[in-house]
Amino acid sequence: MAVFHDEVEIEDFEYDAESGTYSYPCPCGDRFLITREDLENGEDVATCPSCSLILRVIYDQFFMTLGFSKLKANSNKSATGENVNQPQSNFSVSD
Ligand SMILES: [Zn+2]
Repeated sequence: MAVFHDEVEIEDFEYDAESGTYSYPCPCGDRFLITREDLENGEDVATCPSCSLILRVIYDQFFMTLGFSKLKANSNKSATGENVNQPQSNFSVSD
């Protein structure tokens, strides 16, 4: 069973746009690595190439919306068919 060394928000990772890789310092001196592609595939485990430690990457839908908009391309409508682009109006009581 995998034991995570820690859980770190993706915002705390360092992003290298050239390689598309997020990295975070590992206690062994190397860095945990996870690629943007991994994240897009739903992967949330960053691994250190120099030791056996692994890191849980925390990212939420807000980040996904910002960074991975292509994931949203096919899901503009909610399951109920409502237009999710418009916030639901507050329930109003008519007289
Ligand atoms: Zn390490």
